[in-house]
Amino acid sequence: MDIFRKCQEYQLARIAQASGYYPYFKPIQNSEGTEAVFDGRKVLMLGSNNYLGLTTEPRVREAAIEATKRFGTSCTGSRLQNGTLEIHLELENRLARFVGKETALVFSTGYQVNLGVISCLVGKGDVIVTDKEDHASIIDGAMLGRGELRRFGHNNVGHFDRVLKSLGEETGALVAVDGLYSVGGDLAPLPEMIPLCRQYGARLMVDDAHGLGVMARGRGTATHFGVTDDVDLIMGTFSKSFASLGGFIAGDEEIIHYIKHQARAFIFSAAMPASNIAAALAALDIIEKEPERVDRLWEVAGRMRDGLKGLGLDTGDSVSPIIPIIIGGMEPTLIAWKALFDAGVYTNAFVPPGVPEGRSLLRTSCMATHTDEQIDQALNIIENVGRQLGLIA
Ligand code: PMP
Repeated sequence: MDIFRKCQEYQLARIAQASGYYPYFKPIQNSEGTEAVFDGRKVLMLGSNNYLGLTTEPRVREAAIEATKRFGTSCTGSRLQNGTLEIHLELENRLARFVGKETALVFSTGYQVNLGVISCLVGKGDVIVTDKEDHASIIDGAMLGRGELRRFGHNNVGHFDRVLKSLGEETGALVAVDGLYSVGGDLAPLPEMIPLCRQYGARLMVDDAHGLGVMARGRGTATHFGVTDDVDLIMGTFSKSFASLGGFIAGDEEIIHYIKHQARAFIFSAAMPASNIAAALAALDIIEKEPERVDRLWEVAGRMRDGLKGLGLDTGDSVSPIIPIIIGGMEPTLIAWKALFDAGVYTNAFVPPGVPEGRSLLRTSCMATHTDEQIDQALNIIENVGRQLGLIA
């Protein structure tokens, strides 16, 4: 049997490409944040994670350029050996204070944080408990560890309770959930989950990739609920509000010390380069000093969500700047994606296995730098396309 046979037989994406309804890997020629150029045509960007619009902010750009001039383009090695710069430590100290934890450790991507942290903490005989809508990197970290993976229905506290109850007292358990869910835009019910974690002796890790920079004037979902001290580990990424690339884990010193010496995705991968660290530091400065940017993001999100709901579209349980338009079938979702793109609005198409069967959707994400006019223009286009396709009555 040829190991490549699965590749030769894989036709799904090719069929979509041939039909002209393939929404992925579209090359961006130019981007100024709220607008991007594809195939020489400018479209409104409603599909980025650049929540605060900082990727093109001059202070962030300049910081990355200056750091490259000072430290060069790469660390060429892992943090453990030759890749720790003083600014890694500065970023770690600043982040720990920002999220309200003792210590933080910076990884080269957010994906690697989840891979490294979960796989090194959840060993043979341990259990990792996840929500069914957790990010793929949490599940991959769980599969890389040698523990048992147990999942509960999305935000279903009753089911969560039953899963925890079924674990033996001798079993070590780590619960890992998203703070703000990346597709649905809803929040994990941390205040209800925490007493159960305490009751059954489970530790809690919150992946706040989308919540940091967005919730609680940027400080994240744990701060939003006032439960920072009850969340054992807070994970974040720099690839969204922080306008960079990289990620971190924050918690008590003794836990972070262990992770620093045991997480293979940290030890055996090259360190975040200086430009990325400096961009994240500059973004953090701005988030701390200009929280009105976050307020503006929420204003934009309110306008967008009210507008979509007003059109009778299904935005699920979104309470944040991530607002899905739930369509249902895969085919109508891809058709709607293409029609919106052609009409000048870029969204993200989610189809199975990224979402459950029958729950295909277009994800829209707002930015603090969107103008009211841009949001109104996007809503107009969505209304026209929605009516043409029969998605709006
Ligand atoms: N967790 C969540 C919830 C995410 O949405 C993402 C990014 N899509 C990650 C982790 C991974 O982060 P990164 O992009 O930094 O690898």
